[in-house]
Amino acid sequence: MNAGIIKPKEAMASAANAPAQEGAENTNPITIGVLALQGDYEAHTRAFANAGARTVLVRKPEELAGLDGLVLPGGESTTMLKFLENKGFFEALGALISATPCFATCAGCILVAREVLHPKQRSLGLLDATVERNAYGRQIDSTILTLPTELPGGPLEMVFIRAPRITRVGPGVEVLGCRDGFPVLVRQGDLLVATFHPEMTSDTRVQQLFLELVRSHKNRGQRRE
Ligand code: GLN
Repeated sequence: MNAGIIKPKEAMASAANAPAQEGAENTNPITIGVLALQGDYEAHTRAFANAGARTVLVRKPEELAGLDGLVLPGGESTTMLKFLENKGFFEALGALISATPCFATCAGCILVAREVLHPKQRSLGLLDATVERNAYGRQIDSTILTLPTELPGGPLEMVFIRAPRITRVGPGVEVLGCRDGFPVLVRQGDLLVATFHPEMTSDTRVQQLFLELVRSHKNRGQRRE
């Protein structure tokens, strides 16, 4: 799962130099799946279209086959878990994310974390982090902040909706942005995780970073073949 070599600034620079969508699609098409059991998966589809990438909706475990990358949207992680606990979907999802780039936002962050608190909840355990659900409380459960990140191009607008808080990250987790000292945008190899909703703003820098992880992963795979 460890991409290791891409730094966000380099990735963004090469994304900016990448051929336009048509050319890129013709030479090396990529297929991004968006988990569409519940939540704001349509917003992700639109955001990736704005970033020049096509997505397919994933509603069954068999639809995980052949994906170059997967998006876990925001929504209600408990509801998503209920759907996932059917027909081996949870296990199939874990296996795919262990081997394929994944972009998880908000509830998706909760699904991939190693430890979920407040309350404790089953999770895939793939991001070496502890996550507290609904950690910002009811009064300020939704807010928009513009904060600096490691991405080039200046501060990033971040939409937080009943957001979880990442309270611990392991040594293999790179922190790309923080709110009040707590990580909100992190990367562990090919797993990119945000506690906010990059799909709800017109800025596509986070999607571009993920697409670069996907392209790089796919190119490495093709070189090995
Ligand atoms: N509070 C939600 C949960 O616990 C996450 C909120 C979101 O995805 N915007 O799953």
